[in-house]
Amino acid sequence: MHKPRFLDQLAMELGDRDAFSVGFARGRRAFQPQHVEAKWARDRDANIKHIKLEVRLDFDAKKITGTATHRLSAIAGPLVRLEFDATELEIRAVRAGGDGGDGGEPASFESCDGKLRIALPRAIGTGEEIEIAIDYAGQPRRGLYFVGPDPEYPNKPRQAWTQGEDEDSRYWFPCYDYPNNRTTSEIVATVPEQFTAISNGALVGTSDDAAAKTRTFHWRHDVPHSAYLITLAAGEFAMIEERAGTVPVTYYVAPGREDDARRAFGNTPKMIEFFERVIGVPYPYAKYAQVAVSDFIFGGMENTSATTQTDSTLHDARAHLDFKSDPLVAHELAHQWWGDLLTCRDWAHAWLNEGFATYFEALWCEENLGADEFAWNVRQDREGYLDEDANHYRRPIVCNRYRTPIELFDRHLYEKGSLVLHMLRRVSGDDLFFKSLNLYCTRHRGANVITQDLQRAFEDTTGRNLDFFFDQWVYKEGHPEIEVSSSFDDKKKLLSVTVKQTHKTGDTIASAFSFPVTIALMDAQGRETRHRVEIKDREQVFNFVMDKAPKAVRFDPEHDILKTLKHKRGREALETELRHAPEAIGRGAAARELGVEGSPQASAAIRDAMLTDKFWGVQADAATALGTIRTAAALDALLEGLKLPHPKARRAVVRALGNFRGDARAASALAGIVATGDASYFVEAEAVLALGKTRDERAFAHLSEALGRDSYLEVIRTHAIAGMAELRDERAIDIAREFSAYGRPPRARVAAVGALARFAALKDNRRAEILDFMTPLADDREFMVRMRIPSAFAEIGDPRALPALRRLADRDLDGRVQRHASDAIASIGEGRSRVEEGQRLREDIDKLRDDNKKLQERLEKVEALARTSQSIKAKSK
Ligand SMILES: [Zn+2]
Repeated sequence: MHKPRFLDQLAMELGDRDAFSVGFARGRRAFQPQHVEAKWARDRDANIKHIKLEVRLDFDAKKITGTATHRLSAIAGPLVRLEFDATELEIRAVRAGGDGGDGGEPASFESCDGKLRIALPRAIGTGEEIEIAIDYAGQPRRGLYFVGPDPEYPNKPRQAWTQGEDEDSRYWFPCYDYPNNRTTSEIVATVPEQFTAISNGALVGTSDDAAAKTRTFHWRHDVPHSAYLITLAAGEFAMIEERAGTVPVTYYVAPGREDDARRAFGNTPKMIEFFERVIGVPYPYAKYAQVAVSDFIFGGMENTSATTQTDSTLHDARAHLDFKSDPLVAHELAHQWWGDLLTCRDWAHAWLNEGFATYFEALWCEENLGADEFAWNVRQDREGYLDEDANHYRRPIVCNRYRTPIELFDRHLYEKGSLVLHMLRRVSGDDLFFKSLNLYCTRHRGANVITQDLQRAFEDTTGRNLDFFFDQWVYKEGHPEIEVSSSFDDKKKLLSVTVKQTHKTGDTIASAFSFPVTIALMDAQGRETRHRVEIKDREQVFNFVMDKAPKAVRFDPEHDILKTLKHKRGREALETELRHAPEAIGRGAAARELGVEGSPQASAAIRDAMLTDKFWGVQADAATALGTIRTAAALDALLEGLKLPHPKARRAVVRALGNFRGDARAASALAGIVATGDASYFVEAEAVLALGKTRDERAFAHLSEALGRDSYLEVIRTHAIAGMAELRDERAIDIAREFSAYGRPPRARVAAVGALARFAALKDNRRAEILDFMTPLADDREFMVRMRIPSAFAEIGDPRALPALRRLADRDLDGRVQRHASDAIASIGEGRSRVEEGQRLREDIDKLRDDNKKLQERLEKVEALARTSQSIKAKSK
């Protein structure tokens, strides 16, 4: 599903860079409370082979009515009762035994607590087939979403779309709602006559009812898949048709967005051909459609052969300068094999869906943009995972202790899963890696999979035992923390490289990780020798005979291994790497390390790299480094960097300028960009925020003006709101209140919530008032706003927010909001206990001071007494 990173990215464009982490008390806590029980895959009574849904959507009443007909057989008969999932659905009648869904005998049933229990008219034996037809109706609160205009948002299109994953299909049709059953499916959907209804598989036909002003679409999908992948999306859409070989490729978007659709989705046919080639398995379905819908609650959802995408990904030519939909498109497309054709048997193994889709984003990036962009993509995954690990929690990738499945859809599942596949590729080599994937795919196509299936396919292909690999990376948690040092013995002409694994050991983490790694030795001209070594112990020393000491020792130069690394090296080594490393990823890392070193010479070397490196990412890292050095020379360099042609590099320059608080030159440059604008929305937005950070007196006027600018994803307006919070100007409180109102652009509202939280946290005298104002937003109709509230309240850290957070944690319909709310409750609790702890410490210190004073007084008395007695003694002598 969906890509939290995409949402993070959106949050970033919101001017709310840390929407999902700022606010929460930093530091690792347990993934789950101790009492959470293990969850196992469900038992199955029946093998459901086909589902036919005949449904009618009522857009005014936001209602669905219809019949769900299941053809199934008993797995181990005799079967006398059947149970389906059906949450908040009104079950009107059940018939059993018929053929074609119309006949059959009425069957008695009861429906309660989300279950529909059916007593079969007669027992059916093992393997015997039966049809169960269920007439039902519902006004779903989840699973099926109706969107449309209201007085505050009059231009919103009328649409309906479904979201089954993880276990929400039960809200819109009665079904066996767990991944470990696979069925063919069929939808006959009746919608208003001007609408198009899109579903899985091939379009069998359409029919019109002129009197009722409706149109009926009949779709049929003949490759078995799990219930959460069944989709229905309906609305007024323009359709664009392309082909990938023989596969019809279609994009459905709101009329008028056709150009944006081509910009966002246009690489789809090339991606299909690329994935077919590397997996060695042709695209397996009748067509591939992408439907862009409004108000979608994820980035995208890989419904089999008919992906739903957020319409936020549709963008204009200006946004296309530095924003691409390819990662999202590649992710959902990769799921058509990894997730849809092979499906995790239960959620504990969901990395087999999400880790794969995330890694295939990177593979497409490598194919399309080359090795350096690929490495940047992998770095983004690594940083995402390491942040979650350091600041939230640590868990094994395969993990069956969770409260709701959605909690597993985190950076361990996506990003770490992707990094594990990358390491598996490096361990196996490209040829055997893709051969193994092919075996895994062909052996298990059309089936449910667990991690052992993947391991077996790799072992059968490579001949290697991979128990250690899966144990340390997948079933255990964490990653190695590595320290590297080196010394050169001039007499023996011997270089010694010491590699230590310093992470804390325990039952849940490998005491020593085992992996092959490259050590590169570089001379002053940048010539290298590379050595492949096996790391397997807590401490190892590798010796290399050489005539003279290398200029730079580089451990894991391609940054393949998931790790943290401490490798203290001198400026000259870093400068050599910055200048000569063949991989941009190494040059960028050297720039960042040199920024920490911070000497004038380092600053000069970083400046050169920023202005001349051929990869934008290195230029951006160099700019970031200059922003941490913050000298006048660093500022001079950054001002030169404003002319960099690549918008992503320029954006980093602008961001770094925001670090020069109180500096008139930095502020003037930023104000100039805000006034004249930039070719890129994102550079312009970044300048708005950075100008706020400088707290220059001119900023408020510029930011107020920028509030009026329209841009892709509201990026300029949201950065203006965030910039006002950085400015700490209280006039911004009223502006943020205004922008938080229902009816304003949703992303601006989210940014306003962030700004209000910042003011409430900073201004003791305004806190209660702002908190009162914000509390109703916890019940907002807009999902994005509710999603932002928990971290906002956590940032404020005031216990008065707890009742609203408890309400969200207990009752919000979205599992992610619930999880954020319970994290915020914990965070406020920790904050409070830290305050109490501080109070206790202060009392202790006071008491110690008191004791100390008393002791001092007693000491003085004793000394005085001693002096007296001495003088008496002296006199008596
Ligand atoms: Zn996904």
